Amino acid sequence: MASYDYDVGILGGGAAGLTVASGAARLGAKTLLVEKEKNLGGDCLHYGCVPSKTLIQTAHVYHLIKNAAKFGLPAVPAPPVDFRAITARIRSVIALIQKHDSAERFCSLGAKVEFGEPAFEDERTVRLKGRRVSAKNWVIATGSSAAIPPVPGLRETSFLTNRDLYSFEKLPESIVILGAGPIAAEMAQTFCRLGARVAVVQRGGQILSNEDKDMADRVMEILAREGVDFYLNAAILGVRNAGSRKEVEIKRDDGRVAILPAETILVAMGREANLQGLNLGGIGIPFDAKGLNLDSRLRTVHKHIYGAGDVTGSFQFTHAAGYEGSIVVSNAIFHLPRKTDYAFMPWCTYTHPELASIGMNEKRAQAAGIPYSVWIEEFKDNDRSLAEGEEVGRIKMVLDEKEKPIGIQILGPRAGDLLGEWAAVLNGGIKLSTLAAAVHPYPTLGEINKKVAGAWLSEKIFSEKIKKGLRFFFQLKGRACGIDEGGRKG
Ligand SMILES: Cc1cc2nc3c(=O)[nH]c(=O)nc-3n(C[C@H](O)[C@H](O)[C@H](O)COP(=O)(O)OP(=O)(O)OC[C@H]3O[C@@H](n4cnc5c(N)ncnc54)[C@H](O)[C@@H]3O)c2cc1C
Repeated sequence: MASYDYDVGILGGGAAGLTVASGAARLGAKTLLVEKEKNLGGDCLHYGCVPSKTLIQTAHVYHLIKNAAKFGLPAVPAPPVDFRAITARIRSVIALIQKHDSAERFCSLGAKVEFGEPAFEDERTVRLKGRRVSAKNWVIATGSSAAIPPVPGLRETSFLTNRDLYSFEKLPESIVILGAGPIAAEMAQTFCRLGARVAVVQRGGQILSNEDKDMADRVMEILAREGVDFYLNAAILGVRNAGSRKEVEIKRDDGRVAILPAETILVAMGREANLQGLNLGGIGIPFDAKGLNLDSRLRTVHKHIYGAGDVTGSFQFTHAAGYEGSIVVSNAIFHLPRKTDYAFMPWCTYTHPELASIGMNEKRAQAAGIPYSVWIEEFKDNDRSLAEGEEVGRIKMVLDEKEKPIGIQILGPRAGDLLGEWAAVLNGGIKLSTLAAAVHPYPTLGEINKKVAGAWLSEKIFSEKIKKGLRFFFQLKGRACGIDEGGRKG
């Protein structure tokens, strides 16, 4: 039997790689984790979820200060932000979480951590810092980076990606954001709230293009009301330096050309898998800019080399990377064949209000040819929302032909947290009547989950048929009060 240095070698110490390393090492597999940067944690910790959500919270507090009068408080002046203090806070939050993702912690779990740039020599062997290291199984978990589109002039003009956002010395006066996905929407609102002039340029006719248009349009309206300028259906003709500022030239759908001046340009036009430099071509593993070609057990053409996280090119979220890492552990360590199932993969865009989604929305149901019905409840009818001044938003429940829930979208305060209950309902096959009957604490935002299920159930309970039956069996006498068309009580 061939002998290898390790049972499993993992390339990339982000969300996916750390999940595999922790699972494999704790199960007793001799585990190697290789990371290119000087710290573990990946994009999520250093340039993604953690710094962005920290910055979003700072911007939210600043927004509340500026809107103190809305809460019956004395209006207070809000001096301009000092971005160095903001970045210091971001660094401190990263440092807190970094402890959990440290090389020492993974060593204590039993995994060896090496820093360097690996490249495959053959299907079982990687060259690392001039040495050859072999493993029975390999996992490619090297994540993704901002895709840089071939916009004329862009490469010659300095621009930012998510890696540069959290280290400003001072708040840019103006930003043009290319792209209108989740990162673009979150950062547009955040920088606008902090005091920058923000414009968003989008090729298509809606922002957040994976979402239903009604929900995405609502987010756009809210951001526009706060001051973000949107240019939809706009082609980017070019980018150039113009003295101390930059200019983005766009062509709008009516054919008009516009010049958008900006101190800074943020490129947020999708992601590209980090697969260069690993010599994947040399060992016959096909890939493209989107990611690896994997089967449903996350295996490449070599069944002992797996892919997990953003390199799969599917759902590029930290929780998806963790889920895929657990699938790899099942297959590679437990030898229990386990396939991915993304039917109920949730996600959330952390604008304010948040937009969270799980399962089918209308767009996806239509694309899949699934007949569906939609149930909606509004946050303006939720008492806690009103108390907190968060009256904007709605929940949309999508049911299939058999009236089984197949998807939920929530636009509203803490929507991502509210989705947790639906993750349990959908994954657990829990009946809507069970959710509708479950007592929720009052007043909470979560009551909206019960309410939308209850709206569906009410239609069944308070039907004419049921009323007729009750009248027949128990001689109920019917209405005691009513209001006629003229508004008169009778
Ligand atoms: C601005 C922003 C905000 C985001 N917000 C959220 C959010 O709120 N919620 C959410 O779920 N997701 C969010 N994401 C997405 C999330 O960050 C990614 O989906 C997640 O980090 C993917 O995990 P991963 O392990 O695949 O990649 P990563 O976490 O990026 O880890 C990959 C690791 O591999 C290393 N690496 C790269 N190349 C090599 C190499 N050749 N050799 C060795 N190591 C290598 C990298 O240095 C990195 O440490 C956000 C992303 C961005 C950019």
